[in-house]
Amino acid sequence: MLVNLEINKSNLEKNLKIVRSINKNLICVIKDNAYGLGIENILPILLENKCDYFAVAYIEEAVKIQKLLENLKLKNQNGKIKVMALNYVKPENVGDAIRNNIELTVFNFSQLLDYLKILDEFFENMTLKIHIKVNSGMNRLGFDKNEILELVKIVKKYNLNNKSKNRLEIISIFSHISDAENQAETEKQVEKYEKILKIFSQNNVRYKYSHLQASPLLFKYGKKYNYDFARIGMALYGMEPLSTDVGLLDVITVKSKIINIRNVKKNDKVSYGSKGIVKHDSKIGIVAIGYAHGLQKQIENSNKAYVLVNGQKAKIIGEICMDMIFIDLTNIENVKMNDEVVIIGSQENAENGIVEKITLRQMARWAKTIQDDVLTKFGGIKKTVG
Ligand SMILES: *Cc1c(COP(=O)(O)O)cnc(C)c1O
Repeated sequence: MLVNLEINKSNLEKNLKIVRSINKNLICVIKDNAYGLGIENILPILLENKCDYFAVAYIEEAVKIQKLLENLKLKNQNGKIKVMALNYVKPENVGDAIRNNIELTVFNFSQLLDYLKILDEFFENMTLKIHIKVNSGMNRLGFDKNEILELVKIVKKYNLNNKSKNRLEIISIFSHISDAENQAETEKQVEKYEKILKIFSQNNVRYKYSHLQASPLLFKYGKKYNYDFARIGMALYGMEPLSTDVGLLDVITVKSKIINIRNVKKNDKVSYGSKGIVKHDSKIGIVAIGYAHGLQKQIENSNKAYVLVNGQKAKIIGEICMDMIFIDLTNIENVKMNDEVVIIGSQENAENGIVEKITLRQMARWAKTIQDDVLTKFGGIKKTVG
């Protein structure tokens, strides 16, 4: 493939260090195929750096981790490496979780009852490990505060009465903050979470851990909301979690190549439609990347988006195509076929040594979206770790 995404291992490790300087106990979030970067690329780096707790979205991802651990000959450290699924797991897959020691997230009653039914129907002397998600204000997944007493009753009753000697183990009670940069709202949500935790302990329901921080909460308030763990994703991959940069290092470079160069006369058009009017006699480069590779089509509306060629900005002109874009090379000298084009990342000008950079945040602004969206859209392209 002409498009390539490079993962900078050393910068990922530096970001990990920055995160650990605030909360040293991490659940590394590698959901949705490690934000598109590939679980198989990211997991070995994290393991090498002594990460031992991982969160994925789906049971299939958790099973994939178990397989990778097996291949890395890391399987039997007595469950030292733990995996939780954050998203909904269908009842038909709960057996896989029980057999593979995968921890599930439970966030409503019907889900819990379905899981317990499976446990009793198909297992004996086994443990279902769950993280109970509670709603502190985001109103997405999670038990409400007024449901906790009922939940407590179900959990206690199950562990007392079930005939197959199965156990329901509550690994954690956790929640997720919806607007970390809004301090008043965050304090309200944390207070609610605290109140819910209290209901569990007042009713003598044992749970091992509590955790609340994702990247924005961790970087906004430092150690203030350190519970047993921080669940961290975006910061590891070099995405900036707050509206002002906190100094994380760039992990991602997306590159392609110039595959054609042509001269286009003033007032002629490039690409589909009529957006791409050339304002002066121009040297136009065609670059092999488009929306099929995950490049945000919306950046064509910004009139500002550019890529880097020999460390210099080359403006994108006209509509983004499925697998090509048009760039203005008029003011860049000595450009030729096959020259490298940086879409995200840094590039140095060979003549003067000046380095230009396009960050995920910059691309997100051009596309009027968020960094996570920019990154995960590149999920399908070829990755290399360096
Ligand atoms: C994705 C996710 C995280 C990680 O969030 P980042 O902002 O990427 O660090 C943490 N907790 C939950 C519940 C999530 O869904």
